[in-house]
Amino acid sequence: MAPANIFYDDDADISLLKGKTILFIGYGNQGRAQALNFRDTLNYTKTDATILIANLKDSYADRAHEDGFEVTQDWAKATSLADVIFLLVPDQVQPELFNSKIGPSMKPGATVVIASGYNVFYKLLDVPKEANVVMAAPRMIGTSVRTRFVSNAGYPCFVSVEQDATGNAHELALAISRGIGATKAGAIESSAREETLIDLFAEQALWPTVINAFTEAYKLLQANGCSNEALVHELYYSMEPAEIFEKCAEDGFVKQLVYHSKVSQFGQLNGALSLDGSEFASRFERVLKHQIIEGEFMRNFSKMEKSGTLDKEIELLFETAGKTELAVGEKLVFERLGHSYGAAVGKANDRH
Ligand code: NDP
Repeated sequence: MAPANIFYDDDADISLLKGKTILFIGYGNQGRAQALNFRDTLNYTKTDATILIANLKDSYADRAHEDGFEVTQDWAKATSLADVIFLLVPDQVQPELFNSKIGPSMKPGATVVIASGYNVFYKLLDVPKEANVVMAAPRMIGTSVRTRFVSNAGYPCFVSVEQDATGNAHELALAISRGIGATKAGAIESSAREETLIDLFAEQALWPTVINAFTEAYKLLQANGCSNEALVHELYYSMEPAEIFEKCAEDGFVKQLVYHSKVSQFGQLNGALSLDGSEFASRFERVLKHQIIEGEFMRNFSKMEKSGTLDKEIELLFETAGKTELAVGEKLVFERLGHSYGAAVGKANDRH
């Protein structure tokens, strides 16, 4: 497998956006962060371009106004003016909004920017043939996209060209990525397919396994006399696991074990290496092939979204997950100590 290309600020020619109209559709988590970054980059590079925000008339629109942007609710008109269109509404909202109001109003040669591969990989957007489609998909929540930009640190991002109508979509993708601050730390060349496979696999195979393992571990240890307080602290409340993940990023997924005791090192490595991974592997493969690549998850999800049952289904899942020993024990601990380890320490200090 060839190493992926990584693009930096110097690879991007921001002047390609000179005189252009950049439209952000949605001013939520990503929309606000990316629009603010873009405006700062235009100012910093002395690039003259116009930024417009399209959002329903509500508190998000008010926030965009307060941030000094021109905000419109006329999606079609704003789209007809735009050279670059950031599609930053939730993934489940995009097909209906794009296919009814955005796609039909786009001018030829305009560029649609997606922040997630989902709708393009599953071909849910009717993008006109004369339009470019590029992806700039930050691997961060919006607040980090903004704070890391402000502190000049940059953030990881996947970039790709999904449809090249003008012949320079790659250069535009890099200029756009630079605009949102994504080439500062290096934007990794990817694709909507790769982004979707990795993202959905983590959500539908890897993290469910982790959630299930924690839930079962909690139940078993509790049945063997361990208290809620001890278990919640050990499993995550102390923030030790969060620190371990930080060390994984700094030193390596396995190498960070050098910070643990010999008992822990032997226990963890010997335990992991003697596990039979084939059970995981065959379940993982099923999820990847049927649920993700063949689109079973997408079809079920779209059906729930269309029939208006999605929110209810998610509520029911939260309700069920709230009944496990871990969730019940955690509630008791949070009620007693507060919702963070810092709060618990604060309470302890108050008593001195
Ligand atoms: P948010 O939920 O934070 O933002 C939603 C925006 O869309 C708000 O402005 C909201 O405004 C608007 N919106 C919601 N429903 C509708 C509707 N029916 N019609 C018109 N506007 C609507 O979304 P995110 O920023 O989280 O996600 C945007 C994109 O970024 C997605 O593709 C997502 O996958 C991607 N992404 C998200 C990341 C994250 O951490 N959140 C990380 C990386 C990528 P209002 O509700 O006021 O109408």
